[in-house]
Amino acid sequence: MKYKKIAIKIGSNVLTKADGTIDTDSLSNLVDQIAALYNKGIEIVLISSGAVASGRSILNVSKKMDVVDQRQLFSAVGQARLINHYWDMFKKHGITVGQVLTMKENFSSRRHYLNQRNCMRVMLDNQVLPIVNENDTVSISELMFTDNDELSGLIASMMGMEALIILSNIDGIYNGSPDDPESEVIRKIYKKDNIAEFIQTSKSAFGRGGMTTKAAIARKIADEGIEVYIANGKQKNILTRLMDKKDDVVCTHFVASKDSVSSVKKWIAHSEDFVKGKISVNANAAKALMGDKAVSLLPVGVTSITGEFEKDDIVKIVDEKGKNLGIGKVQYNSSKARELIGLKNQKPIVHYDYLYLE
Ligand code: GLU
Repeated sequence: MKYKKIAIKIGSNVLTKADGTIDTDSLSNLVDQIAALYNKGIEIVLISSGAVASGRSILNVSKKMDVVDQRQLFSAVGQARLINHYWDMFKKHGITVGQVLTMKENFSSRRHYLNQRNCMRVMLDNQVLPIVNENDTVSISELMFTDNDELSGLIASMMGMEALIILSNIDGIYNGSPDDPESEVIRKIYKKDNIAEFIQTSKSAFGRGGMTTKAAIARKIADEGIEVYIANGKQKNILTRLMDKKDDVVCTHFVASKDSVSSVKKWIAHSEDFVKGKISVNANAAKALMGDKAVSLLPVGVTSITGEFEKDDIVKIVDEKGKNLGIGKVQYNSSKARELIGLKNQKPIVHYDYLYLE
């Protein structure tokens, strides 16, 4: 087997039939494969969509119903249905699953983040396979994950997985329109490859995600040192074949960067939505930060600071033109940091160990 620890994300389109009902054949097929891998000793976290789609197929509501109300209602019912399916199917293989419903806010501080990590670590250590989904019933629209691809990236990174497998209903990223017979799936994508022109912007039928977020998340996670595969969950034995040492499965593999990223940097990398302030730096500092050497952000290179923050909050770092350079955890509160702007021989505002650059 290629990996010992993997995160698997199953998209709504893999789990639902054209009429929106749960595709139990497809689901049980995937469960059989996951069980086979699990029983070989591979640590697995499953991130499963499909709650909203499943709820929608069960309930008959007025077409005029508010969209947020619909999402809340459908997910409440659909999640119960979905987890029941998983429970029964995994039980046949002797595997106990546990449900983790989470929200973006649950990752807002280092303490929250470690709490989430700990809860899933306890499950894994007690032979319970976690099945994660966003808590769409109570999450607030403005504070939601873009989609479950984003959530799965965060989970894979947080749990220190070696690989993330994102299953949808297409084979991967094509080098043209997927409907064009001439197009082919791009098999391997490296850090230096620019693939923006190949990304199809159409959204999936039942889920929130599309190829744009999948590719962006895949890139970010691969940069953190985790192998990412975008593959077709409806293809026969896709998971077991992917985990084989052979490399013959048609899918897109984002090849992981070889530089290791510390756990705290991974947390910072996924905290972009919780930034409390912005630090602008001069051209010299920008050059040093983006260079090959590991450097901290020093007060001498700072030109301005916006926002109010406390020590240990997350801030955004931008260059003179406002271009995003990265994010980091600050060592000073905002008033102290402002006093130090431009001064030499001061301790870093953001130490290299707490700096995540683009
Ligand atoms: N959490 C949503 C669900 O379970 C899916 C979000 C997505 O499509 O990525 O229905």
